[in-house]
Amino acid sequence: MIVEHLIFGIGIGLFVGLASHKIIGKDHSWIIAASAFSPDIDIAGDLLHWLLYGTIGGFTVEGTAFHGSYHNIGFLFLYATIVAIALRPMRIPLLESFGLAALGFGAHLVEDGLTTCVPGYAYLWPFSDRELGLFILPCERDLLGIANTETLLLAIMLVALAAAIRTRIEGLAWIQRTALYRLFNSTMG
Ligand SMILES: [Zn+2]
Repeated sequence: MIVEHLIFGIGIGLFVGLASHKIIGKDHSWIIAASAFSPDIDIAGDLLHWLLYGTIGGFTVEGTAFHGSYHNIGFLFLYATIVAIALRPMRIPLLESFGLAALGFGAHLVEDGLTTCVPGYAYLWPFSDRELGLFILPCERDLLGIANTETLLLAIMLVALAAAIRTRIEGLAWIQRTALYRLFNSTMG
């Protein structure tokens, strides 16, 4: 689960972008893809914890994984709040940026919960310390050591489906609305 998080984030972002463009005429769904790796910031936090206290897995719960203390709904709430406040100067309504950041962060948690890569995280903290997981998707990074083929294919299918649906509804105009296109255009032009 390295590249897969980003591709899933882009796929979900394309669907949300479609809906938000239709409903509010704006699309800030790039926040979802930009949040694709955010729970993994705990690698730094937990490493620090290990250096200071000699135990692995966290500031919140003592996990069995080498990281995971931000992989829960408590940190989801905290993260989305920080993002909402930080993006205030961009004139994105608080509730909108909060929701998109929470969705991106939450998607990462769901994706981690689906794979066998992790021994399970305490997703429900602070309400429960129990480490959970569904362990459905395989973990082996058989694709150049950076991704699992099945999981990556699933993520790519989601992006392809979103792209096909948007092309059907909006024509090719949606491509110019994506953050990546706009970024490319403003740097090149
Ligand atoms: Zn993770």
